[in-house]
Amino acid sequence: MLRNFRSAASLAIVGLAGSLTLALTLASCSPRTSEPKQAASVPVKDSATQPTKQPTKQPTNSEPSTPQTAAAQPPASTESQPMDPLLAAWKDIPIDPRTGAVTLTDEQWQQRLSPDQYRILRQKGTERAFTGKLWDKGGPGEYRCAACGNLLFTGDDKFVSECGWPAFDKAIKGTIRYESDRTYGMLRTEVMCSRCDGHLGHVFNDGPTDTGTRYCINSVSIVHIPGTTSSKNMETEAIIEAPAKK
Ligand SMILES: [Zn+2]
Repeated sequence: MLRNFRSAASLAIVGLAGSLTLALTLASCSPRTSEPKQAASVPVKDSATQPTKQPTKQPTNSEPSTPQTAAAQPPASTESQPMDPLLAAWKDIPIDPRTGAVTLTDEQWQQRLSPDQYRILRQKGTERAFTGKLWDKGGPGEYRCAACGNLLFTGDDKFVSECGWPAFDKAIKGTIRYESDRTYGMLRTEVMCSRCDGHLGHVFNDGPTDTGTRYCINSVSIVHIPGTTSSKNMETEAIIEAPAKK
């Protein structure tokens, strides 16, 4: 009997202790799951999006908008605001003084560019048609290489093409490198930035304007800086065939 009572009592104690611990666990779990979630989600979101957005996404997502502010108010931005990360990245890009070529390694490019930029500019990728930010938008101003800032086109020569990529009928002379591209069973002319060799797109002879040329460029490869820069005051070129290799 006593033994039974003892075991019953100990069972009751164990049971009580068990339910207490369960209650305590539940009590401590519920705030633990909700509180830290709330506490974590807000600051983590903030701290997670800010640093990742700034170095990685800004070159892609804020291409049209960040330089806009920098270009719109150059005195204010240089005096009171820190330099736009994209412009700062272009400014400190290492260039060989003898050749004028950008001297970054593949690994350094990968660190500087967003994944999309790296895939298209450095690995000759292509963005899907009608998905780029600039295929049907843009306007006056400069269109610079997103990798190195080289001025490639101006808004004077941009037109909306049904192809679904940003199109230009001429380029600023000497800023493009042309190369024959025989991939996918086609013969095309690839266009690259002459300064950093970044892949921009291809050039075709079906342009609707007087040059008959259509530079078909990935949005990701270029940055639009609104302004008044006009190609009318510059030497331009409209080349369709890559020069023969020697
Ligand atoms: Zn470039």
